[in-house]
Amino acid sequence: MSPLPDIEIKYTEIFINNEWHKADKGKTFPVINPSTGEVIANVEEATRTDVDKAVEAARKAFHVDSPWRTMQPADRGALMRKFAELLRRDIKYLAQLETLNNGKPVHDSMGDIGLSANCIDYYAGWVDKITGETIPAGNGHFLYTEHEPVGICGQIIPWNFPILMLAWKLGPALACGNTVILKPAEQTPLSALYCAALIKEAGFPPGVVNIVPGDGPECGNAIVVHPHVDKLAFTGSSEIGRLIQETAAKHHHYRVSLELGGKSALIICEDADLDYAAKVAHQALYFNAAQCCCAGSRTYVHAKIYDEFVAKCVELANKRVVGDPYDRNTEQGPQVSEEQFNKILGYIEAGNKEGAKLECGGKRACDKGYFIQPTVFSGVKDDMKIAREEIFGPVMSLLKYDCYEDVIKRANSSSFGLAAGIVTKDLTRALTITKRLHAGTIWINDYNTFWNQAPFGGFKQSGHGRELGSYGLEGYYEVKTVSIKLA
Ligand code: ADP
Repeated sequence: MSPLPDIEIKYTEIFINNEWHKADKGKTFPVINPSTGEVIANVEEATRTDVDKAVEAARKAFHVDSPWRTMQPADRGALMRKFAELLRRDIKYLAQLETLNNGKPVHDSMGDIGLSANCIDYYAGWVDKITGETIPAGNGHFLYTEHEPVGICGQIIPWNFPILMLAWKLGPALACGNTVILKPAEQTPLSALYCAALIKEAGFPPGVVNIVPGDGPECGNAIVVHPHVDKLAFTGSSEIGRLIQETAAKHHHYRVSLELGGKSALIICEDADLDYAAKVAHQALYFNAAQCCCAGSRTYVHAKIYDEFVAKCVELANKRVVGDPYDRNTEQGPQVSEEQFNKILGYIEAGNKEGAKLECGGKRACDKGYFIQPTVFSGVKDDMKIAREEIFGPVMSLLKYDCYEDVIKRANSSSFGLAAGIVTKDLTRALTITKRLHAGTIWINDYNTFWNQAPFGGFKQSGHGRELGSYGLEGYYEVKTVSIKLA
């Protein structure tokens, strides 16, 4: 492992009203470097009282006469573009920070930050295009709709793409003119706090964006139950998503959007170019150390090509470079935390116990930190734990199928429905399968490609609502109908 870069951690406090605050209860929590297991910094732990303050600041900033509410839409867009520009200006520092805290290879962190800036720019372009309609109502009336911001948005995000998830959440919320309380994951709060400083520098009025680092049960829950939060947006596990929806409903919050887990099927057809298909399957699963909600974690392979395909996947897995995320050759860093690391090793044990064949990997990699060897199981059956549950780790499950009707049924048999993929040279077959798959995104001859202009989100237990594109705006505005009787 190369020596860690000397990165100054500039921000560890709670960001409310464009100011830095200590936690009301005086508590901090340690943030860990997953490459070493060592503490990087202690961050102020926001509790209920801090969330109250943040919501109060967001309410003030949302007052109908506030600078934020009375600003021209184009000026709001200019602030967003400035924020995007600052992300690009500080990309090197931010990428080092993201890698230190999350463990992803530094070139992946650079990629995430570029995408984040593009996402904010994309939504900045929407500010003056969020329009209502005039609706025919005969001669005696004038009828129209207008779109208004929902209000104070509580946004709770996970640790797998800390900056990118922040951008996906802030982009549509700010474009519509809302104010925000955002809680980063307790594992990875550092880059979000740095972004807070950039938001201030960009010139957003105080209280428009507030960032509260803290845990789920106290800080996250305080946002979910807060009577003055008008909309909740959550990305994370299905288990916590369900809890948030339940808790929110009990507290009369109905505007909840959820982007949850997945167990996405990737179908390799018999006519596929096998080298290409193996590469698609490899990156569909292992990208971001397989810590992606849409990871292609059930790879269905046609029986005619199964053995050859398994061999190719094993070869690629064995070649994958795991280790120091600051080394430019590294493809896979550590898993984000000890908890995730142990959970994944538990799934590998379950795969072995249930009779899947371990083709390669299966153990920890490196002598410290939370690294796991790229692992491949063949002979996986649909009812095995590794084929049903979200592993969130570098464990490839290769399942065999004989006919397309059968594989479609099996792909759809999951309670999740976030994404799916198909690799084939036959576009008619691809589109026929696409029509039948229950998933929010289908990738054909590709995987993990995201577009700011195209929606992303899940069918079934993978959530509801969509992020990105014009669909991503829908959760962030109210539609007001105005009916005027002409005298
Ligand atoms: P993971 O299992 O991938 O760590 P989680 O769903 O537990 O993901 O966490 C995603 C986000 O949800 C994090 O910011 C976490 O702090 C937050 N969270 C966890 N539990 C709760 C809760 N009870 N209420 C609100 N937010 C929560």
